[in-house]
Amino acid sequence: MNMLLTNYANGENPFFQNYKTPFGVPPFDKIKTEHYLPAFQAGIKQHQNEIDKIATNKLAPTFDNTVAALDYSGELLKKVSYVFFNLYSTDSNEQMEAIAEQITPQLTEHNDNLYLNEALFKRIKTLYEQKDKLGLSFEQNRLLEKYYKNFVRNGAALNAEQKAQLREINKELSLAELQFGQNVLAETNAYQKWITDEKDLAGLPDNVRQAAAEAAEQAGRKGAWLFTLQKASFIPVLQYSKNRDLRKELVTAYTHIANNNNQHDNKAVINKIMKLRIQKAQLLGFPTSADYYLDDTMAKTPDKVYSFLASLWEPSLKKAKEEAAELQQLMDTEGKGEKLEPWDWWFYAEKLRKIKYDLNEEVLRPYFKLENVRQGVFDLASRLYGLQFKKLNNMPVYHPEVEVFEVLDADGSLVGILYTDYFPRAGKQSGAWMNNISEQYIKNGVNFRPVICNVGNLTKSIAEHPSLLNMDEVETIFHEFGHALHGLLAQSTYPSLSGTNVVRDFVEFPSQIMENWCWEPEVLKTYARHYQTNEIIPDDLIEKIQQSRLFNQGFNMTELLAAAYLDMDYHTRKDTSDFNVEDFENASMAKIGMIPQIHVRYHSTYFNHIFTGGYCAGYYSYSWAEVLADDAFQAFKETGDVYNQELSFAFRKKILERGDSDEPMKLYIDFRGKEPLPDALLIKRGLK
Ligand SMILES: [Zn+2]
Repeated sequence: MNMLLTNYANGENPFFQNYKTPFGVPPFDKIKTEHYLPAFQAGIKQHQNEIDKIATNKLAPTFDNTVAALDYSGELLKKVSYVFFNLYSTDSNEQMEAIAEQITPQLTEHNDNLYLNEALFKRIKTLYEQKDKLGLSFEQNRLLEKYYKNFVRNGAALNAEQKAQLREINKELSLAELQFGQNVLAETNAYQKWITDEKDLAGLPDNVRQAAAEAAEQAGRKGAWLFTLQKASFIPVLQYSKNRDLRKELVTAYTHIANNNNQHDNKAVINKIMKLRIQKAQLLGFPTSADYYLDDTMAKTPDKVYSFLASLWEPSLKKAKEEAAELQQLMDTEGKGEKLEPWDWWFYAEKLRKIKYDLNEEVLRPYFKLENVRQGVFDLASRLYGLQFKKLNNMPVYHPEVEVFEVLDADGSLVGILYTDYFPRAGKQSGAWMNNISEQYIKNGVNFRPVICNVGNLTKSIAEHPSLLNMDEVETIFHEFGHALHGLLAQSTYPSLSGTNVVRDFVEFPSQIMENWCWEPEVLKTYARHYQTNEIIPDDLIEKIQQSRLFNQGFNMTELLAAAYLDMDYHTRKDTSDFNVEDFENASMAKIGMIPQIHVRYHSTYFNHIFTGGYCAGYYSYSWAEVLADDAFQAFKETGDVYNQELSFAFRKKILERGDSDEPMKLYIDFRGKEPLPDALLIKRGLK
């Protein structure tokens, strides 16, 4: 038995035992905050021992005793990391934040100890240099290449002095990124807009008023109304409130998250992060941090990204200007002499949508009961891939709102376990995402099936009715479920090649293609049923949905692409001296001719994607992968059958099951027969 396990033989800490739960899911009900740190520390130690053993092996390096051994190592560390970081983003509190602060530098150091281990790198390099003679399988070859590249990218080829510098940078960087995220969360949670006079709610639909009243009551002030910076709370205000000052106040609060010159201000943090990232890239031989991050993507270079963005920006901006003019015209008819401002856009767009398409989002909500929409994606996965979903009761969950499903294949074999966690709460980061709780891989002939989590911040149920979603939220469920399928259907031997462990500009492909299905009339009819009467959504509403999908696309694309430009402008900086964040952002927006009536989707100080890690020089990925997704969906459309079995089978086998087992463009061409074109995206959004 392992030494570390015997140390905890009293069995208090669930991480030190084999989970005795159904399907081996984490025993969330038994995990306590005090279990994390000892498990992290033991996990790091155990992993380090395994690494040392591999690195100092007297036998000559082989694929199995080096690369495969590494890929399967660190089991305890993975076990605790998956649980902790999942809960850190979904159900955090001050204790969790304190643990994150304590463990993050240790994890960073551990990561450096792995990648900067000279004996280990020597073994990998030896294998890499003779890879053609090793008789490796396709997957093994890919994994060896991935390891070699990762080691070099993490500094393995640097000299001792440079390695020490890199360690220092990584440590500081991880803390600065952590601080950035914590500041955003603190500022988001701190903001409360209280309304005490009902007059101030003019224009707001009943369900929005009631949600605000319930939020107020929960916060201890019955009889008042509370709005927050959660999108489900403030977006309806922007859409419907006749109170222009209220709209302005909320937009201003949102666009100033972590930019209020208080202890949670992120401007200095951004300066620090950028300085460190530039230093790191240059140390590793790249001119800018964008060059460094993009080296490991489909796009490869900043030039390629900028020209990709330009191909979409021009038609999008043109459309956005037309939309702005149309909204201004509508405002002019009211005769107040007001000029269109960002806090007016949502409100008048909603009015215009009503005039043009006779469509009010509130009319749709009754057809989008959350449970029905979720059943809709399950049914779609059944039609396309033969999957079945069974709700599991009495499973350990980390919050009462979490639900658990068993996912089975057509032949009844287990595909994996899916957790859904859809509602906002304090301690949950905003947005929506998919996370692994455990990964798929094959070891000693056993195919370990994954546990996946889908998380969102969707409109909650209120006393009168269940959770009823808007179109954006429906799309979000389909999107995140696409990521879940990518994780669930994985069939890789090695964990690092499994499921969503793909390059960033490919990972949003399986998720975004799902958004195409959700609005197809034959798919809508399967799930969009009135929550009271069970009536299928009528054809005239479907028709209106179809038409209105072209609506406001100039705005949508412009705010999205502007954020991608801002990200690229930051990460192509070479200058490490201090700079003024607001000036930098303004200059970046001026360069692309951004119009003042639209805010960039994320201002710098709360642009979590790019400043907390994951998407630095990577925000373009959403549009890049959307091109892949729309072009791939076009293949289904071309057959006239969105459920085409031959294609869905090919999509499962050639994309969803393959993880990172080959170059993503090769996977794509294998499915589609050719490289993708942006036409399908531009047409879908009415930009061409
Ligand atoms: Zn996504």
